[in-house]
Amino acid sequence: MNVMNFSAANCKSCYKCLRSCPVKAIKFKNDQAEIVEERCIACSHCLLICPQNARKVVSYLPIVRQAISSGKTLVASVAPSFAGYFDFDTDKFTGVLKKLGFSFVEETAVGAELVSDFYMGYVKNNNNNAYITTACPSVNYLVEKYYPELVEYLIPSVSPMLAHGKLMKDHYGPGSFTVFIGPCMAKKTELESFYNKGAIDAVLNFDELQQWMDETGIDIQNVDTAVFDRNTAVLGRNFPKFGGIIKCMGEEIHKQGLKIITVSGTDECIDLFSNIQRGDVKNVFVEASSCKGSCTGGPDMVRGEHHYYRKLNRVNDYLSSRPGAMTNAVENCSQEIKIDRTFCEKTFKRHMAYEHDLKQILNNMGKLGPEDELNCGVCGYNTCREKAQAIYEGMAEPNMCLHHMRTKAESLTNVIFEHSANCIMVLDGNMNILEINPSGERAFSIKAEKAKHLPVAMLMDDSVFRKVRETGESVIGKRVAYPEYNLLFIQTVVYLQKQDILMVSMADIAESESERKKYTKLKENTLISTQEVIDKQMRVAHEIASLLGETTAETKMLLTKLKKLVEAEEDGD
Ligand code: SF4
Ligand code: SF4
Ligand code: SF4
Repeated sequence: MNVMNFSAANCKSCYKCLRSCPVKAIKFKNDQAEIVEERCIACSHCLLICPQNARKVVSYLPIVRQAISSGKTLVASVAPSFAGYFDFDTDKFTGVLKKLGFSFVEETAVGAELVSDFYMGYVKNNNNNAYITTACPSVNYLVEKYYPELVEYLIPSVSPMLAHGKLMKDHYGPGSFTVFIGPCMAKKTELESFYNKGAIDAVLNFDELQQWMDETGIDIQNVDTAVFDRNTAVLGRNFPKFGGIIKCMGEEIHKQGLKIITVSGTDECIDLFSNIQRGDVKNVFVEASSCKGSCTGGPDMVRGEHHYYRKLNRVNDYLSSRPGAMTNAVENCSQEIKIDRTFCEKTFKRHMAYEHDLKQILNNMGKLGPEDELNCGVCGYNTCREKAQAIYEGMAEPNMCLHHMRTKAESLTNVIFEHSANCIMVLDGNMNILEINPSGERAFSIKAEKAKHLPVAMLMDDSVFRKVRETGESVIGKRVAYPEYNLLFIQTVVYLQKQDILMVSMADIAESESERKKYTKLKENTLISTQEVIDKQMRVAHEIASLLGETTAETKMLLTKLKKLVEAEEDGD
């Protein structure tokens, strides 16, 4: 995904992200998590919840700073939920932004007012079975990708952020640099969307703003209080609160005889949309947000930092301390600001496995029958069958099943433990026997049931084991004799500090030792015999050599004589 994904280097395959993903849009390959864009609704829950902070999210802070240094007029659109996020005096917030380099600061509520006007006109002029409203891009993606039948119920307006961007560009000029500051990462995907059309130039999240403030060393004590530029809107300011959009709609909903449903949290949205899709819920005006507690709850609710009510109190206090006034932002525009948009189906193709494919995959995971399907959810999927389907689609790997891997490892360990010719013992930190294998039982003539929990000193001298535990230094391949058992071992002792246990492995070499002795004796005897043979041979060789020497000298003498005779004959002597 362009805007958000995981950083592979930090991922430790704990599957927490997948467990939190409401639409299972995370693929695991080679033990690395990756967001699959066509399935993702950009709720960012997975990134916020990752214990390894393995996230890679686009930051627009560098281009904001660059805009300041190139002398552009910077205008901020601030989501009113800032009052819940920042602990300092809300009256100083505008002052902080101006210190950082913003020329003008407005509340996004100015744009929300335009959007709620659009909603009212739309409801008046239509006669739908249901209306779905949201300021949350994730809810729009959820409907477009997973509930295509409900796309027609989405009120076709851009978000307050984009509406405000359009108003700001009109008011401060197209050359101004508009920055939305809010709690939500999904707004970054909206910035990249077709409907932005340059209305918003950058999105900063509250934590990025905090980081900027920290880097700049802003001392809140020395910041002046300042008001927002242009009057704050009255109704639009309720948008970040749970049910805030509906509050802006006033009586129009009741006039149309619609029932109001407010829903926050993706799981709850999924539940409601499924009901509407089935036709169980009709004639409703829905306000939906993907974060629990809407934008005021925001990402912190996902992280499990339950400060929601404290934050809600602060937002409420802030809203009531500044009653606001109509901005007249719309009336004062130089042109008509269009905020309509269209929503469309964005479903993706899924390859569904046949029953025999699923069975095969389940079998490969050691799930041979329903009793093996634990449906524990550890892998991130709610059921083993869902997981098998994900494997079929290339979204998951078999080794993500903890139980499968544990059973596999255990059965492997068991085979080694049970059938090893070596004596294997596991001792606890107090030198008591935890496990002893059949070879150990035979060697020390004790049954495992009796040996377990006995101090090992009852079987043998435990000084080596104690030393290994004290020093943490393993003993590898040391010869040790236990004459009382007529045993001679090559012994290895390893201390596992985390578990505080000692692994003892002893290879019996008594038999091979006596074989070795027999072999040495045989070798010695062979050597003696060989020496005797050599000596004998040498004597014979000497005798033969002396005989050979004599005959050779005689032969040489005769041949020399013969040669001389032949030479003399050739010379005519
Ligand atoms: S939460 Fe997901 S991305 Fe983070 S470490 Fe766990 S598996 Fe990896
Ligand atoms: S951003 Fe949301 S939808 Fe996308 S992968 Fe993460 S949790 Fe799933
Ligand atoms: S048993 Fe394995 S495959 Fe089934 S839900 Fe649990 S971890 Fe996932």
